[in-house]
Amino acid sequence: MDFSLNSDQQMLQSTLSEFARRELAPSYGKRDAEVDLPRDLILQLGQMGLLAPTVGQAVGGQDLDHVSLGIAHEEIARGDFNAAYVMMLAALAGTIVAEHGDDRQRAAFLPEICAGRALPGLAVTEPGRGSDAAHVTMSARREGDEYILNGEKTSISFASFADTALVMARTGAVEAGARGVSAFYVDLHCAGVSRTRFADLGTRAVGRGQLFFDSVRVPAANRIGPEGGGFAEVMQGFDFSRALIALMCIGAAEQSLEETCQYVSERQAFGGSLARFEGVSFPLAEASVRLRAARLLCYESLWRKDQGLPHTAEAAGCKWLGPELAVEVLHQCLLLHGHLGFSRDLPHQQRMRDVIGLEIGDGTAQIMKLVVARGLLGAVSRPY
Ligand SMILES: Cc1cc2nc3c(=O)[nH]c(=O)nc-3n(C[C@H](O)[C@H](O)[C@H](O)COP(=O)(O)OP(=O)(O)OC[C@H]3O[C@@H](n4cnc5c(N)ncnc54)[C@H](O)[C@@H]3O)c2cc1C
Repeated sequence: MDFSLNSDQQMLQSTLSEFARRELAPSYGKRDAEVDLPRDLILQLGQMGLLAPTVGQAVGGQDLDHVSLGIAHEEIARGDFNAAYVMMLAALAGTIVAEHGDDRQRAAFLPEICAGRALPGLAVTEPGRGSDAAHVTMSARREGDEYILNGEKTSISFASFADTALVMARTGAVEAGARGVSAFYVDLHCAGVSRTRFADLGTRAVGRGQLFFDSVRVPAANRIGPEGGGFAEVMQGFDFSRALIALMCIGAAEQSLEETCQYVSERQAFGGSLARFEGVSFPLAEASVRLRAARLLCYESLWRKDQGLPHTAEAAGCKWLGPELAVEVLHQCLLLHGHLGFSRDLPHQQRMRDVIGLEIGDGTAQIMKLVVARGLLGAVSRPY
């Protein structure tokens, strides 16, 4: 067993750590307004090779391994959770196109995603279907060389300014469940698409909102994977992004932990440093060990992806544990700053609000535990 990073990974980690500290962290607070993440920043992430970097170089990627991708998410989230959020969705959409698209789709869509010129969203959730995502009702009706999309997607990250989206829509009967759902790569600037933006608690720069599709014409050539294979084939196997989400949350918490260790060391009370008291140092020691354990689980899941090993239950475990633990740690860090922690001037509250969103997005803890239970107990644990 070898827990060390190779020299390329060490270089990536130190370069991104410096970038996050110097360029992202100072303006993270400014991005806590209901304003879209600046396009320049997204283009910069593209120029740095951070958008969908695991796809091949021939289509704009870097052929990067998934452990390195995880390192990148953790480090960037330390500086700005929203920037890492762009990377996570680009990685997810890019990998789906790379692995399930045809040559034309790879050549047309991936260079745009990797460069940051096409910000992709993933549109699954509907007003009536969230956790029960395989039963989406939005319709895609075939008409010649096109599909006509009608319906509403809600709670979509980047809805307010994404350029494209992988949209899950029903091409088969409702009774067919997941087997009747197809995936489409849709240009969101085309006729018939309209959007809203929610007033969110956190990740405000992500512009979560609704997408409305009113007779939107999508070329049949933009269907990713087989008709009726949107869920069963395209979405399954993309568990690795759950480990990325967990690492984003862990990165945010690690940053607050580091800042809190410094604060309690310097803060004087009762004749010396606050760090002398176990009531102060133990929560930090516990946070450090727990974060390390969760982080290792994430890296193991990504390593399994790189090895071509199953990692569904592992990644679901990361997605449950990482955000939940990060919220607990961030809360503790906020409290250990005393009255200062309650102010918007310090970033702990923003990080905590940002992370809470991803306790829900991409599946809640309950749904992740169902996935883990299925791995543990098999089909007998299926409630439906
Ligand atoms: C910040 C954020 C970003 C998001 N981004 C996207 C996005 O980009 N694209 C997208 O498609 N969606 C996105 N979502 C939507 C998200 O995936 C759904 O909100 C989530 O899957 C839960 O669905 P729901 O809100 O309909 O809750 P419901 O499914 O109605 O669940 C409500 C509650 O019941 C629990 N519950 C449901 N079913 C079960 C069960 N079988 N057993 C036990 N408990 C259960 C849930 O855990 C939850 O606590 C985002 C959500 C958030 C908050």
